[in-house]
Amino acid sequence: MELREKLEILADAAKYDASCASSGSDRKTSAGTKDGIGSTEGMGICHAYAPDGRCISLLKILLTNFCVYDCLYCVNRRSSNVRRARFTPEEVVRLTLGFYRRNYIEGLFLSSGIIQSPDYTMEQLVRVAKMLREDHGFRGYIHLKTIPDASPELLAEAGLYADRLSINIELPSEPSLDRLAPEKDAGAIRRSMGRLRLRIEEAKSSPREPRFAPGGQSTQMIVGADGTDDWGILATSDRLYTGYRLRRVYYSAFSPIPDGSSSLPPGAPPLVREHRLYQADWLMRFYGFDAGEIVPDGGLLDLEIDPKLAWALVNRHRFPVDVNKADRESLLRVPGMGVRTVDRLLSIRRHKAVRLEDLGRLRVQLAKVAPFVTTADPQVGRSTLDRLDLRQRLAPRPAQLALPLFA
Ligand code: SF4
Repeated sequence: MELREKLEILADAAKYDASCASSGSDRKTSAGTKDGIGSTEGMGICHAYAPDGRCISLLKILLTNFCVYDCLYCVNRRSSNVRRARFTPEEVVRLTLGFYRRNYIEGLFLSSGIIQSPDYTMEQLVRVAKMLREDHGFRGYIHLKTIPDASPELLAEAGLYADRLSINIELPSEPSLDRLAPEKDAGAIRRSMGRLRLRIEEAKSSPREPRFAPGGQSTQMIVGADGTDDWGILATSDRLYTGYRLRRVYYSAFSPIPDGSSSLPPGAPPLVREHRLYQADWLMRFYGFDAGEIVPDGGLLDLEIDPKLAWALVNRHRFPVDVNKADRESLLRVPGMGVRTVDRLLSIRRHKAVRLEDLGRLRVQLAKVAPFVTTADPQVGRSTLDRLDLRQRLAPRPAQLALPLFA
């Protein structure tokens, strides 16, 4: 099979992994055709965020979409009737270097179906990263998906070459994993995450330790393939962040696959659910919220409004917050005020009394913020905070739901 054909199959197969923000760029050439100079269409180039927050382009591919496992939700499962392909490690190295030299990419995101055994597959993935770093002096970004059942030695070796490692938890609960991916072992996933955490922390704690996955570890959870509610999903994420110090949990809305099992739902969950989970996740990581505050036990996130606004509307007794006196933690809970806004506000108020016009200069959505704050202006928020129609006034029109990730 031609390399280009393999690339088409294995880039397409990788698009189900959410750890990159998009599954493929659609860069049109000046001629408007997909094959002209600069076209990356069908070539698996995605955009992801580096640990330092930069948006980077990655070649996102599978080493192979052959797999000896039969996870029901996966298009690459053993029993799936899809076209299969397999790169050699040398081919992946050649492609990565070729794209890198043409400035198409700044790094590689490499995952794989499981071939022969977890150890054999992991050896192949490590080999790619090792060749790139040691034989070709590659200094670009490398994100390796690791196989949780692979030996600890191989995981430890992967961390020497990769910037980030990830192990997919796949489903939010152990019973769901047992039911939909019976060959996977939740205990092995947790043990591998624990080992990676220790190695990452050891490397960070001493400059004498060899570099080990400086971008930390991440995971992916499929949303909507089982019946776990949003509280269950967020509670699992919370445990992963606190127990294994994960850098990111990625949420991937289940997408129905051809000839899918009857154990799976017939349709995908609303895409906005994935979006709301990312917003809720953000609240846990940067805004001091607990999973239980964002959504009650057994509950689902409100799809119409963002989770911080939803929380504020049911906790109106905690508002209005005085922007001139409140602590940082309280300010972070004001709908429409992000971390940067709050930090700038704290700095401004050292020199002057903050008024609404100052908030306007910080580019906050005044209509959203004003009901929840008091400023040095005559009382503005109090009158609207108790209005029964406040939710309707603040809820975005449906077309706006897809716009900002967070506000
Ligand atoms: S092990 Fe991975 S690639 Fe294989 S069937 Fe399961 S999810 Fe798919």
